[in-house]
Amino acid sequence: MQIERVVIAGGGLAGSRAAAELRAHGYAGQVTMLGAEPHPPYDRPPLSKKLMMGELDSTSLDTDAAALGLDLRLGEAATALDGRVVRSERGEYAFDRLIVVTGAGPVLLPGPGRQHVLRTVDDALEIRARLQKGTRVAIVGAGWIGAELATAAAARGCAVTVLEAAAAPAAAALGEAAGAMLVPWYAAAGVDLRLAQPVESVQDSGLALPGGGWLEADLIVTAVGVRPCTGWLDGSGVDLGNGIIVDSRLRASVPGVYAAGDCAAFWSGRYGRRLRVEHWDTALHSPNVAAANALGAEQDYDPVPYFWSEQFGRMVQYVGHHEREDRLIWRGDPAGERWAACWVSGTAGTDRLVAVLAVGRPRDMLQGRRAMVAGQAVDTARLADPDVPVRDAAVT
Ligand SMILES: Cc1cc2nc3c(=O)[nH]c(=O)nc-3n(C[C@H](O)[C@H](O)[C@H](O)COP(=O)(O)OP(=O)(O)OC[C@H]3O[C@@H](n4cnc5c(N)ncnc54)[C@H](O)[C@@H]3O)c2cc1C
Repeated sequence: MQIERVVIAGGGLAGSRAAAELRAHGYAGQVTMLGAEPHPPYDRPPLSKKLMMGELDSTSLDTDAAALGLDLRLGEAATALDGRVVRSERGEYAFDRLIVVTGAGPVLLPGPGRQHVLRTVDDALEIRARLQKGTRVAIVGAGWIGAELATAAAARGCAVTVLEAAAAPAAAALGEAAGAMLVPWYAAAGVDLRLAQPVESVQDSGLALPGGGWLEADLIVTAVGVRPCTGWLDGSGVDLGNGIIVDSRLRASVPGVYAAGDCAAFWSGRYGRRLRVEHWDTALHSPNVAAANALGAEQDYDPVPYFWSEQFGRMVQYVGHHEREDRLIWRGDPAGERWAACWVSGTAGTDRLVAVLAVGRPRDMLQGRRAMVAGQAVDTARLADPDVPVRDAAVT
């Protein structure tokens, strides 16, 4: 079948990459991109970092719609998929291939009070304008975004409280043992971190806590995670679960439909399970595979996932994927400034490195990633020695 019309639903990083990759693969037909936001594609990671600190105001990506021959429709959300047609409130777009990159949106807490979220550049600029000296800021959630926002708010002189329902920061991603090592960072920055502290609801001037508790705040930011933006596909025939269900080639259950980035729940042969990865690296690379396959290639997308966070003056990087039963090995003193946590799976002699959390040790992350891609066995005693490069812990 001749492919003449491609629709990209979603105008973030993955959308921008999908458009560029279609052209890079030699596709010369029509490309229409529907983006719900009024802005051309932009990068989100700086929103909670440099932009929040006041070091930059725009994070626009270099998406040259004219050079790409891109029919870019901003402020126009896809509202339905009906056969081979995407509908919006303004029009209908017939397609031969559809690449869905609608990303994810923040989860909200119950309650009538004003709760800010940090997902879009408009969210970020609005929060930043309120981070005045002495402002009482309550951040719900000590995950990556909560921690980065707390960093910026404390640096701008706010009185910051972070409430976290779990027993440690970033526990969902790291587990409690590794997450616990992040706790002192909050206190050192003057942030009041309250662990095992659920929030019942957001009220006008504060947070209602279980048992009649109350936290007064001038600014409340909810940072408790995101959900994939897939509501518009309800009833379309596209299988949905925790995201758009796609196979290892990023193909959805409806022929001609592909998904990438935050909204895609792809099958990983490497991990033998479905993954939905809400990180920049996936939004950067998965659209290449979706675009190539949409044009007839047969590539698998099966990365070793990676993300980073910049919090409390530290560069935090995590690569891989670990399960609760994997064994944790420390490299260096986690009370110090430069250390890593490695997770291994298997038994002595056949241990494989499955994940690395590197704090101020980018080489550990890079070498760990290579070891994971190669699937090499590692000597755990050498891995535990921070003076031995991770690559030299491999058993040859
Ligand atoms: C504040 C912040 C900081 C971050 N920092 C890091 C970091 O340090 N490291 C890291 O690895 N990752 C980070 N991330 C995550 C990273 O930015 C995301 O993984 C990435 O943006 C995902 O790109 P995407 O294009 O898949 O989705 P998105 O960026 O969510 O883009 C999707 C776009 O589609 C639009 N859309 C939604 N529904 C529709 C529809 N029906 N029709 C048309 N358009 C629609 C959305 O409005 C949005 O503009 C951060 C995210 C945020 C919000």
